[in-house]
Amino acid sequence: MPGFRFLVGAGSYLMFMLSTAALSPQDAAAQDTSADAKKFVDEHVAKIRPLEIETGKAWWNANVSGKDEDFAKKEATENKLNETLSDTAQFERLKKIQEGKIGDAVLRRQIDLLYLQYLDKHVDPALLKRMTAKANTIEKAFNVFRAKVGEKSLSDSDVRQVLMKSKDSAERRGVWEGSKQVGADVENDLRDLVRLRNEAATGLGYPDYHVLQLHLSELKQAEVLKLFDELDVLTREPFAKAKGEIDAKLAKDYGISVDELRPWHYHDPFFQEPPAVYDADLNAPFVDADIQRICREFYAGIGLPIEDVLKRSDLYEKPGKSPHAFCTDIDREGDVRVLANIVPTEYWMSTMLHELGHAVYSSKNIPRELPYVVRGEAHILTTEGVAMMFERFSKDADWLAAYGVKVADKAKYSESGARMRRDRLLIFSRWAQVMFRFEKELYRDPSQDLNKLWWDLVEKYQLLKRPEGRNAPDYASKIHIVSAPAYYHNYLLGQLFACQLHAAIIRDGLHKSDPANAIYTREPRVGQFMKDKVFSQGRLKNWNELTKFATGEELNAKAFAVEFGGK
Ligand SMILES: [Zn+2]
Repeated sequence: MPGFRFLVGAGSYLMFMLSTAALSPQDAAAQDTSADAKKFVDEHVAKIRPLEIETGKAWWNANVSGKDEDFAKKEATENKLNETLSDTAQFERLKKIQEGKIGDAVLRRQIDLLYLQYLDKHVDPALLKRMTAKANTIEKAFNVFRAKVGEKSLSDSDVRQVLMKSKDSAERRGVWEGSKQVGADVENDLRDLVRLRNEAATGLGYPDYHVLQLHLSELKQAEVLKLFDELDVLTREPFAKAKGEIDAKLAKDYGISVDELRPWHYHDPFFQEPPAVYDADLNAPFVDADIQRICREFYAGIGLPIEDVLKRSDLYEKPGKSPHAFCTDIDREGDVRVLANIVPTEYWMSTMLHELGHAVYSSKNIPRELPYVVRGEAHILTTEGVAMMFERFSKDADWLAAYGVKVADKAKYSESGARMRRDRLLIFSRWAQVMFRFEKELYRDPSQDLNKLWWDLVEKYQLLKRPEGRNAPDYASKIHIVSAPAYYHNYLLGQLFACQLHAAIIRDGLHKSDPANAIYTREPRVGQFMKDKVFSQGRLKNWNELTKFATGEELNAKAFAVEFGGK
């Protein structure tokens, strides 16, 4: 799953949690701290902004080159930023300011956000340093990892190609197992990292790192769990039905029985995406397609051009480079870049639409007048939501035709595409269940049998069969557990946001109906809607306030259910 760099855990919820013992901000007797608040914010921006820019650049360089010296620089800049944010005297000062009375709402919001940013770093500097070093060691192992199969050494894309195409169960199994070796390579370091993260969380008074991470982003574990339980009920039967159809097709393709299907028979290493079992070959139209050009025309057409982003980006495979995809906002003044590894497939069409979705929801379009602290996306789930909202179009023949992509049988392609979209939502929602519940348990008790826990969850939620006799740390082959911990729920909540926002654009922006099947191409009203209803707010509102502002309702599963309910 493509990523986004900024982990912007923030909001006012935690503030009320922590302030109950002290003076509430609404307390009439509270001291007015506005003047010091203003001073604190100014000092913060003067000191932290250059460090954040430096860190962003070092992070970018390390991922592009994969070189030791670039990773060393990345680690050094991260340490410098973390040390500055973990200054105890500054944190105590901020805490007093935050407990006081601040009349101005924008200033109040900035202080609340800064409080969470500093709280996150308010752990022992030596411990922070160890966490950063550990995470970097593991990330580097992932970046240089190639799956060894016999004499061959396969890149991420090579693995994906074999899993997409091979009809040979033994070959598939070899490649799948080869791709999981990175899990065994990093297993011990990952367990160490989990313990360090938990040590940091308990030091701040939280039961474990997972609970802390959710609090830092205005979410409560119990609330998210409740929503996930509801989504489990909502998706269980449609998922079983969709998977039954997929399994029948796969078994036929490989000449085996459905009973014999194992995890390597699906088309990606985790079954997080639908296998390409549809009547139309979704990759066929892209053989000669210029993915960059299509993205450029699409985003320009909806009034959100991304020409400058593409110029600054690094978009094709090369040795040492991160095999993944992400977007990063370097300076909150428009220096926005995408790292990708484009090959002419539907996957990369959709991934580029996704990453550029992050790019338009950045300081490119968030008003420069907003103060630095609130000049970003409201929440991870809202930027993931916007990115996922745009990626949908790569599966629609009419949409592709509008950009000159030749599709042999449009009706067949769109029908397959629609089914794939529906399956994608279902399959992804079940995969997100595994990730959320696994990480929650991982941090609750890292000493438990994690190999077993992983496969128990995979069997329960994804309905996959665990390979007989396999006892390997397959969970550790998922890079997100290292580099984006306690993060995956944002994708599923983001999917809810994507469906809800898409429905609002179709209804309120374009005055049309049938959001599940609606597309748009050269339609500047879409960009205007996004600017007015989403980008203009930056981080002034929290995620749920923004959802209500943009769509008229708080975040819920209604629009999501409409989308996978089919036509
Ligand atoms: Zn993303």
